[in-house]
Amino acid sequence: MSQNFDVIIIGGGIMGCATAFQLAGRGLKVALLEKKSIGDGPTGKSSAIIRQHYSNELTARMAYHSLHVFQNFDEMVGGECGFNRCGFLLVAAGADKAGLTANVAMQQGVGIETALVSTDDIHELAPGLKIEHDLAAAYEPQSGYADPYLTVTSYAQAARRLGAKIYQGTQVTAVHMAQGKVQGVETNNGRFSAPIVLNCTGAWGAQVAQLAGVELPIDPCRVQVSLFRRPAGHEAAHPVVADFENAIYFRPETGGLTLVGLIDPQEAHAIVDPDHFSENVSDAFVLDSGERLVNRYPAMAQSQSVGGYASLYAITPDWHPIVDECPPGSGFYVCSGFSGHGFKLGPAVGRMMADLVLGVEQPLFAADMFRNGRFAANEPVRGQYEYSIVG
Ligand SMILES: Cc1cc2nc3c(=O)[nH]c(=O)nc-3n(C[C@H](O)[C@H](O)[C@H](O)COP(=O)(O)OP(=O)(O)OC[C@H]3O[C@@H](n4cnc5c(N)ncnc54)[C@H](O)[C@@H]3O)c2cc1C
Repeated sequence: MSQNFDVIIIGGGIMGCATAFQLAGRGLKVALLEKKSIGDGPTGKSSAIIRQHYSNELTARMAYHSLHVFQNFDEMVGGECGFNRCGFLLVAAGADKAGLTANVAMQQGVGIETALVSTDDIHELAPGLKIEHDLAAAYEPQSGYADPYLTVTSYAQAARRLGAKIYQGTQVTAVHMAQGKVQGVETNNGRFSAPIVLNCTGAWGAQVAQLAGVELPIDPCRVQVSLFRRPAGHEAAHPVVADFENAIYFRPETGGLTLVGLIDPQEAHAIVDPDHFSENVSDAFVLDSGERLVNRYPAMAQSQSVGGYASLYAITPDWHPIVDECPPGSGFYVCSGFSGHGFKLGPAVGRMMADLVLGVEQPLFAADMFRNGRFAANEPVRGQYEYSIVG
């Protein structure tokens, strides 16, 4: 026996749950199907940094909107997201000053509170950091990080309160199509029918799209994070730092820890089977990330390593997502491939997806820039001024 819905959402990460919340809030009968449990995938392992620094206006606007939701989460969604406003500092090479200045001006135009900062300013904002030479830097006082697991489970609960049905332990194994239109899906828990199916499966995005006969350029890539206990005298939290010179980001973590990850385009080559990969951090990564951290934050030479973990980025060729109906008119939508920077955009993406599915004429965030056809047309998303993979 099939269960009938207006919309089926596959995937219980931030994108699926934020979209379920939006669509249920607009009165649709929504089923969200998650093969494991809500937030069990990469969303729950996200570093969950919420910065607004982007090199194109659409993503900057999306980050700005989403920050407002994280700041007012209980009122706008309901429940907790664990937002911690510790500030965000971006440090790039002096050669990137012109690009950074242009990006900051664009972001200010969007309404984002951000400014270029000097070496003296950085010494005040984060006294432990070593800044020896001229560089390009910007600071966002309103940014920080959230608790990703709390955020996604709060979204799921809020969607449930609005009437969405959430099925955990429910893996989609087939997508039913007839005359080019989606009819529903097959799962280990039976059949679900709907004229609209959304593929919000992140690193599994290409795999799930294949069930509908759609090819997507999304690679599941293994990425690692390490954790260090700050030494005596450095217990106080520091801002989130994106350090493009050392190709790392780091942020405070509960318990006097500092969490470190890479900002490295090479991570796109670490393609793995998303269901079978090592979730442990390697010794080599701890050593390498620790050395890069010490380059910027010398006192961390006295820190204690407390391990780390690995999870997945869903990487596309231009490090931007695919948000599109594939093929047009089929009712099968894709919202996957956020390439390591999707968490902070989740609230805006939920809105974007709901507007796309409902055919809203003047959406708050148009999805055209993220159409799947851009790759074949050789029209990747590019910022006007880019440094590394800032997005
Ligand atoms: C270590 C790490 C650090 C990060 N740091 C940041 C950061 O600081 N800031 C930021 O903005 N972003 C960050 N990101 C990226 C961000 O976390 C992701 O872009 C975002 O969480 C992706 O969410 P999603 O909903 O698209 O996918 P996911 O969280 O991957 O959710 C997809 C879900 O689909 C389910 N699924 C798969 N196949 C099926 C199926 N057949 N049937 C049913 N369910 C299925 C999976 O089990 C999974 O739960 C980071 C990511 C990682 C891994």
